[in-house]
Amino acid sequence: MTEQEIYDIKKQICEIGENLWLRGMVASNDGNISVRIGEGLFVTTPSGVSKKYMTPEMMITMNAENKVVGEPNGFKPSSEFKLHLKCYELRPEVNAVVHAHPPIATGYAVSRVPLDGYNMSEAVMLLGSVPVAEYATPGSDEVADSIAEFLPYHDAILLANHGAVTMGKNLMTAYFRMESVEQVAKTTLVSRLLGGAQELPKDKIDELCDIGKNYALRHPGYRKYS
Ligand SMILES: [Zn+2]
Repeated sequence: MTEQEIYDIKKQICEIGENLWLRGMVASNDGNISVRIGEGLFVTTPSGVSKKYMTPEMMITMNAENKVVGEPNGFKPSSEFKLHLKCYELRPEVNAVVHAHPPIATGYAVSRVPLDGYNMSEAVMLLGSVPVAEYATPGSDEVADSIAEFLPYHDAILLANHGAVTMGKNLMTAYFRMESVEQVAKTTLVSRLLGGAQELPKDKIDELCDIGKNYALRHPGYRKYS
């Protein structure tokens, strides 16, 4: 990747950070974003800076050992970068990770209720089910380990009593998944107020998952049918 390409990625991270803030998916200095820029090399957002007010110069280059690469720029990486590294380690095709606290989806995470009702056709097709990983202290090794069992099957995971993490082959895809998680959470909440969502029949879910494959996406994660 050229210097210019890396700079463009840093600019895009700032843009996505601003979108997260504008859409209320992060408050204060919440959340973090990263992009893979080479073999074992990543760019990530600085700790302690609002996602609204980041500049490309604040971005930090990290290696797969969670160490800063290059000259210090006065900013520290988030302690939650370990969570991102786990995604890159277990999902080689993933090139971007977004972590945020979208309020409705985080409400589900706090209540430890997965978003796994197969009732919104396009969400079944494009997002799949969103499980809740076991609670662990933010920034700890345990929080990274908590998502490991879900990573092979899910592109979006709720972190119990914390927030959400999404990933994709590029940053736009990872970010859009975060938007989708919040949208599904909102709709699911409204459907509960209206008497509960009607789940699609299994053959229709299979059909949607097949169409999802045509979008070159990972097969959406099924929750187990009982
Ligand atoms: Zn967080």
